[in-house]
Amino acid sequence: TTIQMQCHLPIPQPPAPHPLTSRHVAVIGAGAAGLVTALELRREGHSVVVFERGDQVGGTWVYTTKIESDPIGFDPARTKIHSSLYKSLRTNLPRECMGFRCYPFVAKDNPDRDPRRYPGHREVLLYLQDFTRGFRIDELVRFETEVVRVRLAEEEKWKIKSKQRSGEDETEIFDAVVICNGHYTEPRVAQIPGINEWPGKQMHSHNYRVPEPFRDQVVVLIGSSASAVDISRDIAGVAKEVHVAARSVADETSGEQSGYDNMWLHPMIESVRKDGTVFFRDGSFVHADIILHCTGYKYHFPFLETNGIVNVDDNRVGPLYKHVFPPALAPCLSFVGLPWKVVPFPMFELQIKWIAGVLSNRFALPTQEKMMEDVEAFYSSLEASGMPKRYTHNMGSSQFEYNNWLAAQCGCPAIEDWRVQMYNASSKDRRARPESYRDDWEDHHLVLQACEDFMKYTS
Ligand code: FAD
Repeated sequence: TTIQMQCHLPIPQPPAPHPLTSRHVAVIGAGAAGLVTALELRREGHSVVVFERGDQVGGTWVYTTKIESDPIGFDPARTKIHSSLYKSLRTNLPRECMGFRCYPFVAKDNPDRDPRRYPGHREVLLYLQDFTRGFRIDELVRFETEVVRVRLAEEEKWKIKSKQRSGEDETEIFDAVVICNGHYTEPRVAQIPGINEWPGKQMHSHNYRVPEPFRDQVVVLIGSSASAVDISRDIAGVAKEVHVAARSVADETSGEQSGYDNMWLHPMIESVRKDGTVFFRDGSFVHADIILHCTGYKYHFPFLETNGIVNVDDNRVGPLYKHVFPPALAPCLSFVGLPWKVVPFPMFELQIKWIAGVLSNRFALPTQEKMMEDVEAFYSSLEASGMPKRYTHNMGSSQFEYNNWLAAQCGCPAIEDWRVQMYNASSKDRRARPESYRDDWEDHHLVLQACEDFMKYTS
């Protein structure tokens, strides 16, 4: 905490020199991606309108106790809730690593704030609100205004139809569109043989908030992501039994979860029966009351009409050059934030610096043909390594190479060494000690290096 107190918030940087071309750009969404998008586009000299269907900034980080009318997410007409946060959620990245490069996420000397390195979700929302206020981004946002259609108009312009909460709709023309609508809202669920006859309840983690509804229940939780790990532990405090089914669990590693007397690990579910039984692939079975799917989300762009140029196929959004530009529609249509298994905020920042500079003609893109060749070569390499399509945007170990590629396009410094090492240390600790990694760490030297770096913003 002493170290964190030494860091001060940075002073906003001056805008970029006069750009070659200034465009009128629509940004969809005012979550972390949309906010930094608005900032960088304005810095580059573009005029910006951010459409946000909610009543405040922050996207995912706006926690709500509300859940959707269909807790598994099958019914397309269900009432929709944007955020997937649960009450107990703390970040899974240390704050120094997680924050924007231009606006470090440092602890604030204020009793109302959460100074921990892995703070609770409210602290992230407050940080994004500070960012918004500090850079006066609110003035660019139209709240309670949902984009309902984006389509190509004449002369390579884009026609955007939006709808206000009051019911009024409006159609406007923009030079370019940047899509920042997030991808943790539309549930993906596991296909389970026999599920239509199974009498129990089903829920997707999108609608998980608190453990209480699981009291005294026998729960089967599917998944092994960071949220699956957190939620299984949250629920184990009240449930009768928690059975975690995951692809990553081999038959021989299944069994009781150490440290718990009511949690077991299993390989994937084989099938379920109408008497309530859930069978796992190793032949074990339980009578369960509820199946909780922590199985991730689908990319979803219900507003986007591109005559089939951009599609979502088995959770691959494509074709996209470097996860950002559809070659045939570049540079006037772009996406910020699609890659996963990343440090999101600094990646958003680099993606939009590149987009903003391409839109102003400061940076050049390869020809459409060359971009398509690059995309096809990328898809072939995924296929050759046996990677399913749905992992197209999964970055994992290649994320920093990707960040540095983006940084090189923009002439920005490469991603900081301490950030890379901190991410690696945190990931390793999370796997080894999921219950304690947030409060017990050993990378103090990296925190010091990060804070030295942050000082640059105040000097
Ligand atoms: P979002 O935050 O989802 O914002 C999208 C915005 O677009 C929303 O405000 C939405 O209302 C708006 N929108 C959508 N459609 C429309 C439309 N048609 N018209 C107008 N507005 C629209 N990241 C970390 O760095 N650290 C963590 O610890 C971490 N933990 C996470 C835990 C969970 C459970 C989840 C789900 C995610 C977590 N993430 C974490 C990732 C997180 O998603 C990113 O940090 C970040 O919030 C994503 O920002 P975004 O702007 O891309 O999307």
